Amino acid sequence: MSDRTIEIPPTAKLRLDSEALVSNWRVLDDLSGAASAGAAIKANAYGLGAVQVFRRLQSAGCQDFYVANWQEAAEIQAYTDESTNISVLNGVRPEDMPFAVTSSAKPVLNSIEQAKRWLPTGRPCDVMINSGMNRLGINTSDLIDFVWHEMDIDIVMSHLASADEDVSQNANQLDQFKNALRHVSGKRQSLSNSAGIALGQAYHFDCTRPGLSLYGGKQRSEFDGIIRQVVFPEAQILQTRNLKKGDKLGYNAKYVAERSHTIAILAMGYADGYLRGFSNTGAFYIDDTRLSVLGRVSMDLIAIDISDAPQLAESDWVKAQFDLPTASLQSGIAQYELITGMGNRFIRYWT
Ligand SMILES: *Cc1c(COP(=O)(O)O)cnc(C)c1O
Repeated sequence: MSDRTIEIPPTAKLRLDSEALVSNWRVLDDLSGAASAGAAIKANAYGLGAVQVFRRLQSAGCQDFYVANWQEAAEIQAYTDESTNISVLNGVRPEDMPFAVTSSAKPVLNSIEQAKRWLPTGRPCDVMINSGMNRLGINTSDLIDFVWHEMDIDIVMSHLASADEDVSQNANQLDQFKNALRHVSGKRQSLSNSAGIALGQAYHFDCTRPGLSLYGGKQRSEFDGIIRQVVFPEAQILQTRNLKKGDKLGYNAKYVAERSHTIAILAMGYADGYLRGFSNTGAFYIDDTRLSVLGRVSMDLIAIDISDAPQLAESDWVKAQFDLPTASLQSGIAQYELITGMGNRFIRYWT
């Protein structure tokens, strides 16, 4: 029998920067003007760890948190206090009701059916308006004959589909949302996700709901230089080797050496969320030296060029280039997917 009291050292780590996370929330809260910024922490806080993110942002003064479902609400409920609001974006299904009526979290009601289901509870809720994204939410025309005034509504919200682009859909959604607000009122109103915050005061209302940019995502140039990187993957070298001119590397020989040089094999791969989109395009760093990813990313392994860092050897650690806009361009993978896909083999540690 193996001895489970002996610690097994990790081969891949995800360093998460507390200061950068809190700084990003403050920046987004400032950019939200008179509105207060909440935090979307659904999907395990986009892969970073919901409880860890929640506790840091709560200490910083964040009061509104958005999760996708009741499992996620249950996970953080234990850490909340009276000033914390949790909204469950995916609403409340019949099978959620037994838990939901005991929970301090509130559902975001996405349909008249859900509103009818929640009405008898007399408990607080939010309401989602469909302003043109046609995902979740109630159409303005369906708002008209419901007894909203009998409900305890905190936030009336809608969601922008294209706030990362300068397109007319943004203004159209704003108009639709304002229209809807004539038929349903709550204590507060909310429209903007991260990118929406950059669209200006007209989009801010009472509270904003950033997610991606809390975690270092920058989808608009307004965020350049003020939103900081939060997620830093680190991988360990398992082996180094020399390639000769003409040597083939990795699955399907997607890299062939044009000269003789040294490479290192890292203990990280697409199973960790460093996806195959980084094949022949991604990069790692040791100090300021760039180390290109060579050939195809494997499930558990990545090859990098260490010609410019000949001192590197087995057991050394290197850092992935993971500034999200850059990594997204390199890999063709959306900034959202890059972080939500970070796997469970990583040891996540906060500094
Ligand atoms: C995910 C989500 C957000 C956060 O969006 P980002 O683009 O990550 O800032 C806000 N509101 C709703 C309804 C969401 O589903």
